[in-house]
Amino acid sequence: MLSTMQDVPLLISRILTHGSVIHGTSQVITWTGEGEPERRSYAEIGARTAQLAHALREDLGVDGDERVATLMWNNSEHVEAYFAIPSMGAVLHTLNLRLPPEQLAWIVNHAADRVIIANGSLLPLLAPLLPHLKPVEHVVVAGPGDRSLLAGASVQVHEYEDLIAGKPTTYDWPELDERTAAAMCYTSGTTGDPKGVVYSHRSIYLHSMQINMAQSMGLTDEDLSLVVVPQFHVNAWGVPHATFMTGVNMLMPDRFLQPGPLAEMIETQKPTHAAAVPTIWQGLLAELNARPRDVSSLTQVTIGGSACPPALMQAFDKLGMRVCHAWGMTETSPLGTIARPPAHVEAGSDVEFAYRLTQGRFPASVEARLTGPGGERLPWDGESAGELEVRGPWIAGAYYGGQGAEPTRPDDKFSEDGWLKTGDVGTISPDGFLTLTDRAKDVIKSGGEWISSVELENALMAHPDVAEAAVVAVPDEKWGERPLATVVLKEGATTEFAALRSFLADEGGIAKWQLPERWTIIESVPKTSVGKFDKKVLRRQYAEGALDVTQI
Ligand code: AMP
Repeated sequence: MLSTMQDVPLLISRILTHGSVIHGTSQVITWTGEGEPERRSYAEIGARTAQLAHALREDLGVDGDERVATLMWNNSEHVEAYFAIPSMGAVLHTLNLRLPPEQLAWIVNHAADRVIIANGSLLPLLAPLLPHLKPVEHVVVAGPGDRSLLAGASVQVHEYEDLIAGKPTTYDWPELDERTAAAMCYTSGTTGDPKGVVYSHRSIYLHSMQINMAQSMGLTDEDLSLVVVPQFHVNAWGVPHATFMTGVNMLMPDRFLQPGPLAEMIETQKPTHAAAVPTIWQGLLAELNARPRDVSSLTQVTIGGSACPPALMQAFDKLGMRVCHAWGMTETSPLGTIARPPAHVEAGSDVEFAYRLTQGRFPASVEARLTGPGGERLPWDGESAGELEVRGPWIAGAYYGGQGAEPTRPDDKFSEDGWLKTGDVGTISPDGFLTLTDRAKDVIKSGGEWISSVELENALMAHPDVAEAAVVAVPDEKWGERPLATVVLKEGATTEFAALRSFLADEGGIAKWQLPERWTIIESVPKTSVGKFDKKVLRRQYAEGALDVTQI
C-alpha cells in the first residue's frame, strides 16, 4: 500500500524561499576589513539570488545541469551563489582555493565548469590558470580586486553587480527531481586524482535538518554563527543551508581569517556560535592570550576536520566557550558524528569530558559499522578497532565519473554492498560514540588541509642525490600536523636540506605550504614484511626523540 502523503521534492529552492520569506529579517554580515561590515538581510539575499539566476540563464546561457564554479571566500555573494545555482537546476561547484594550481585546473576541467564566479581578491590565483581551464567561458568577478589581471583573457569577464543589476527579484524556480545534483566538491587527491562528490537536493535538505537538531548544532534565529569553515570545504559543513531553514544569522569572515581579525569580529559583532577546524582555534587562543578581548558572546564552538586536542577544549571551556567535537568527510556532507554527551552523565565530570573528546555519536540517519583487517564485523564494545564504514541519505555512494561517464565506485572506497569505507580507524562504544584511533592512510592533515606523504616522497626521490625518502605526519602545535621528511642519501652525496626543500618547490611542483620544515637523514627506511615503508616505526622513533631532526 502506498502512503497517502504528498510527495513534495526536497529542493534547495524551498530552503531559499523559506529563509528569505519566513526569516527575511535575519542577516548575513560580511567582514570587510575596514569600517562597518556589510549587512544583507535574508530577504535581500533572496531577491539577489533570483537576480543572479536570471543573469546566469539569460546573459550567460547557463542551462540544464551545467556546472557553475565558485572561487570565493565566505561572504554574502557566495551565499547567493549557493542558492541561485542549484535552485535554477545547475550544479554549484565550490573550488578549494588552497589546492595547488595544477590540481585546481584538473578539477575545473574534470567537472567541465563553464562559468566561474570569483572574488576579485583571488584573481592573482585565477588569472594565470585561465589558459589551462578549457571549458570555462565566463568569469564573474565579485568584490574588491585588480580586474586588470584578466586583461587579454580568452574568457568573457563580467562584473557581479553589473550582471545582476535590474534583473527581476523573483524567479520561477523549477520543480526538480530531488535526487538530481545540486552541488559538488572534490576531495583532495591524496592517492591519484581528486574525486568528485556530488550532493543532491535531497541530501543537502536532509543534512540541513540534521544540522539544525538540538543534538547537532541546534541553533535558532536568536543566534549569530561565525562561519569560519570555508564555503569551499564541504559546503561550510552545511551551515549556510541549515541557517536558511531556521533564520540563524551568519557572520562571514571573507578573506580575514587571521586570528587578529577573527578576535575583532567576535568582540564587535558578538557571534554566539562558530565553526572551524582546530588550527583556527589554536591561533585564536594564542591571540586571545596575547591580547585579551571580550569574547563572552561566543558560548558554542563546533570543532571538526581533525581531532580536537584535549588542551584546546579545556582552554576554551575556561573562556566560557563550550566546544562540541564533530567528525565528518567531504563524502559525508559532512556530518557523520557529533559529541553531545548523553543526558545521564554529570555535567562537568571527567566522564562527561571523555565523552566530549570522542568524535561523537551517530545521528539517526547515519548507520555505522566497523570492519576488521580480515573483513570481519567488529562489535561496538569501545575496544575493538576497525575501519569505519557508513551509509545514509547524505553519504556518498560513488564519485563523479566525468562528463558522460558513469560514476565510479573504487573498491578501496566502497564495500561490495555499497557502504562508504571512510579510511578512518576507530572504536565505537555500546552507546554509539565513535573514537578515532588512527588513519588507514598516512595523509598529513595540516591546518585542516591534506598533504599527501606519497606525493612528497615521490618528489623527493626524484632528486639525484636521494636514494629513498619517507614522509610522515608529526604533531605540530600550530597546524595540527606537519610533514617530517626522512631521507636516505645516495652514497657520497652531501646535499643539504635547504636544497632538497627548494627542489621540492621548483622541480616537484609542491605547494609552498606543503613543504616540510622538519628533516632528518636516516640510513634506510624501515619496511614491513611485504616491503612497504613502515611509517609506524618512523613515527615512534620521532616520538621517542630517536631521530636527529633539523628544522629549517
Ligand atoms: P575531508 O574530506 O577533507 O573533510 O577530510 C575528512 C577526514 O578528516 C576524515 O576522514 C578524518 O580522517 C578527518 N577528520 C574529520 N573530522 C575529524 C575529527 N573530529 N577527528 C579526527 N579526524 C577527523
